[in-house]
Amino acid sequence: MSETTIQIAYLVASTLFILGLRNLSSPKSATLGNALAASGMFVAVLATLLAQGVVGWPTILAGVVVGSAIGAVLALRIEMTAMPQMVALLNGFGGAASALVAGAELVRAQGLDPATLAEMGGSIKASAIVLGTLIGAVTLTGSLVAFAKLQELVGGAAVTYPLQRTVNGAIAVAVVVLCVMIAIDPSRMDLYAALAAVALVFGVLLVIPIGGADMPVVISLLNSYSGIAAMATGFVLSNASLVIAGALVGASGLFLTKIMCDAMNRSLSNVLFGAFGAQADDGGAAAGGDQGTAKAYTPEDAAVIFSNASSCIIVPGYGMAVAQAQHAVAELTEVLESKGIKVSFAIHPVAGRMPGHMNVLLAEADVAYERLIEMDEINPQFPETDVALVLGANDVVNPSARADTSSPIYGMPILDVDYATNVFVIKRSMNPGFAGIQNPLFFHDNTMMIFGDAKQVVLSLVEAVKNY
Ligand code: NDP
Repeated sequence: MSETTIQIAYLVASTLFILGLRNLSSPKSATLGNALAASGMFVAVLATLLAQGVVGWPTILAGVVVGSAIGAVLALRIEMTAMPQMVALLNGFGGAASALVAGAELVRAQGLDPATLAEMGGSIKASAIVLGTLIGAVTLTGSLVAFAKLQELVGGAAVTYPLQRTVNGAIAVAVVVLCVMIAIDPSRMDLYAALAAVALVFGVLLVIPIGGADMPVVISLLNSYSGIAAMATGFVLSNASLVIAGALVGASGLFLTKIMCDAMNRSLSNVLFGAFGAQADDGGAAAGGDQGTAKAYTPEDAAVIFSNASSCIIVPGYGMAVAQAQHAVAELTEVLESKGIKVSFAIHPVAGRMPGHMNVLLAEADVAYERLIEMDEINPQFPETDVALVLGANDVVNPSARADTSSPIYGMPILDVDYATNVFVIKRSMNPGFAGIQNPLFFHDNTMMIFGDAKQVVLSLVEAVKNY
């Protein structure tokens, strides 16, 4: 394959990545975006393998078969609720791959004659090698810790100890010194081994003080890191396509992290160093507390109120994902509409456990995109709404975030469901949500609890409304 053909293939791949990302920004075009980006990756991988002649066709085919089989089994078996930890693992593998490629290039450079190796000192390539190794190794172990916390292999609480920030600060200084020394003198493989080891430990230390509730934000940040590591590797290999792909992942991961922090009204430093999980897990008082008595209703009671309603806003949350209630909700929407009730969905940016979680589930159940309305747009509609149906959501409808300055989620923008005339909350118990705090909404005069699994309750509601 000629050099020109390979560069054209990389250009095509990069264009497909950019178009893919563009289409991923709307649920309507997200499937197309995914397909475009995946085709781009296929073109890039093929061009690289053909260009470099690194391994023979049998090895390539074996890799494709084994890799595809593992990927297909994982993708088919993974529960939607376990998607964040799967993304964490994939980020970790991406970081590891970048660190290994960077390391391999440095090992290869040791075969050069001493003068040429010395000339490499201070070059972009040498700097990219240390950066790729550092960020890739931090991403690997940081992602593994995030995975272990979300998979509940270890406790999700923030792990803190005295002088933690000082220790991390000292390690950060040591890492920078090592990076500079290796970049100046690439023959120092002893220092390189030390850098790799310290970076692996650093990844663990950076993620353990972050509580389980903040893990999705950390995963988004680690996703960005894996992109930056890949970009550095692109410079090591002088591969423009890898630089572009890495930059796209790095930048979009950073944007997503910022969007998630804004939606929780938290700064990134508060997420990274605020030990939010420790606070929430210790907050026994916050989780309980005497707030009055919640009123329990049945789906049949609710059907009576629905029969007098003309508008309903459904607020899905993590419980809808756990119960896999999205198809039942789509059925309920149809039944309510057939009774002349206008139905919309209020989508909070951090409802569920990953960005876009609710959109993906509702799209799977063929709920029209036009019905899904974002927080800022739907909030003014609650005071004129007859029924707000909170479906397995908790933190994103907690009015303490608006009024209680002592609440750990104070300042987080919420969906103002309590302003609706009637509020139904479907959940299994009075247990708190991810933030670990009680929700005063459940005790409001206009709130009625319907206890049970979201899917079962919604199916009963469908029957009750049909038969009323
Ligand atoms: P929450 O975690 O606050 O609450 C979910 C509720 O669902 C629980 O109170 C639980 O109550 C209920 N539930 C669980 N299973 C079922 C079931 N089978 N049937 C009915 N109810 C069920 O979810 P929200 O979506 O309101 O909020 C998301 C939280 O996650 C926020 O704190 C947010 O900051 C955090 N987060 C989200 C991110 C994202 O990207 N989406 C990223 C970072 C953090 P019970 O056990 O009584 O049934």
